[in-house]
Amino acid sequence: MKRSEFLKLGALATIGLSIPKHAFPRQETRGKVLIVGAGISGIGAANYLQSNNWEVQVIEARNRLGGRIWTNRSMGKPVDMGASWIHESSGNPINKLAKQFQIKTKETNWESVNLYDYQGKKYSEKEVSKIIDEGDWVTKKAYKLAGRQTQDRSVSWGIRRVLKDADYSDKMLQKIQWRLSTQELDAAIEFDKLSAWGDKEDGFFGEDLIFPDGYDQVIENLADGLEIYTGQTVKEITTSNKSVKVVTEDNEYEGDFVIVTVPLGVLKKKNIVFDPPLPDSKIRAIDSLGMGNLNKIALKFNEIIWPIDPHFIGYLSRIKGEYPVFVNWAHYTNEPYLLGIIGNQYARKLDQMNPKTLRQNVGLALSKAWKKSIQIEDYRYSAWAKDPFAGGSYSYLPVGVKGKMYDALAEPQGRIRFAGEATNRGMSATVHGAYLSGLREAESIVSK
Ligand SMILES: Cc1cc2nc3c(=O)[nH]c(=O)nc-3n(C[C@H](O)[C@H](O)[C@H](O)COP(=O)(O)OP(=O)(O)OC[C@H]3O[C@@H](n4cnc5c(N)ncnc54)[C@H](O)[C@@H]3O)c2cc1C
Repeated sequence: MKRSEFLKLGALATIGLSIPKHAFPRQETRGKVLIVGAGISGIGAANYLQSNNWEVQVIEARNRLGGRIWTNRSMGKPVDMGASWIHESSGNPINKLAKQFQIKTKETNWESVNLYDYQGKKYSEKEVSKIIDEGDWVTKKAYKLAGRQTQDRSVSWGIRRVLKDADYSDKMLQKIQWRLSTQELDAAIEFDKLSAWGDKEDGFFGEDLIFPDGYDQVIENLADGLEIYTGQTVKEITTSNKSVKVVTEDNEYEGDFVIVTVPLGVLKKKNIVFDPPLPDSKIRAIDSLGMGNLNKIALKFNEIIWPIDPHFIGYLSRIKGEYPVFVNWAHYTNEPYLLGIIGNQYARKLDQMNPKTLRQNVGLALSKAWKKSIQIEDYRYSAWAKDPFAGGSYSYLPVGVKGKMYDALAEPQGRIRFAGEATNRGMSATVHGAYLSGLREAESIVSK
């Protein structure tokens, strides 16, 4: 499906939402759709179908909705442990939903960073701006260079060549490496594993927006009036010419169609039995696409002991990927919270730490940066790779794998439809991409 068609769907969904729930008597429904997964793609699809007079049942393994949209309120204030931003808000359908539901958002300035190194040196605004510009120049050039090779190359391949020609001093190189590690966070995978032929479209344009009171408000509003069963881990999906059956540990659900929205990381584990089995083309897509690792660590303090103005606190460590950046949650909420973002190799290291060591580890990094001892009152860590219902953060295109694998993952199988971020070739790894994939599959059923 072309992007313009996706955008049309976004607009349709917003119109659909204005139809009162259950406006049509049950007996007039056009059929029944089962939806596996209550993330944004599943909830978006369910909402669209119900608004179009289909009966819908959403079957969710967790005891909460939202999947990789997860606002944790257990420390007192809301902190997002999964998705945080509406990227490029102009034209982004999630921004339309946020406006429709009157959810507060705030703009993020990615260049507003207080950067400290491991010896407590704070870089000036001018220096930070230079580091960001140089780092961005390097990756942009690297993508271009590696992308135009006849053989698929990693982004690192391009970076090595650009750095070789650029002749930076060792000091500058170290700073550029910091910027590169913040960009690797975005990819949720090390650049040496990431294809420079990554098929990403440019999405939309405009500012990135954050939710000071939690991303889950989008889910809650969208899920209002839907029939959702939580705590139901799907084990088996059986289809015939006429119907579908979804089996969990303690229930069976029957319908005319099923939309499977479980993450790529879950499909990779192959714990859900499909009968008849999925074709080779689907298995190949599941096996070959990559699932990245990105985590959040939310820190609560007694009081705000850092400047409130910058949007981010950067940390230039000697260790690659060690807490490169913290969202200054205090800036957005006036509450004493920071939200560290960690990915890839360093996240895998944190995944193995016990809670006490993890708290000490992050505390030590911040006390080096700020040259003072600090007391963390409480913290939460996301550990998406260890989460049985996520199996990682989001999909990526590994070196040597073709972009059409995303399309193969999206391919319908009789009465089974597939949605979720990893089925949206041009907009994978995003909330809006996941949402639009849900609408895509819902619309394919509605227009049948
Ligand atoms: C740390 C992090 C930061 C991110 N930041 C951003 C950001 O700032 N902006 C952005 O646009 N995107 C961001 N993303 C990506 C975005 O969160 C995802 O692309 C999107 O939320 C995925 O939605 P989905 O519906 O495809 O999958 P999910 O939200 O994962 O939904 C799938 C659902 O299926 C359920 N499920 C799994 N297995 C089973 C089973 N066997 N039976 C029943 N149910 C099952 C899961 O519990 C889940 O609820 C981030 C992701 C992470 C992890």
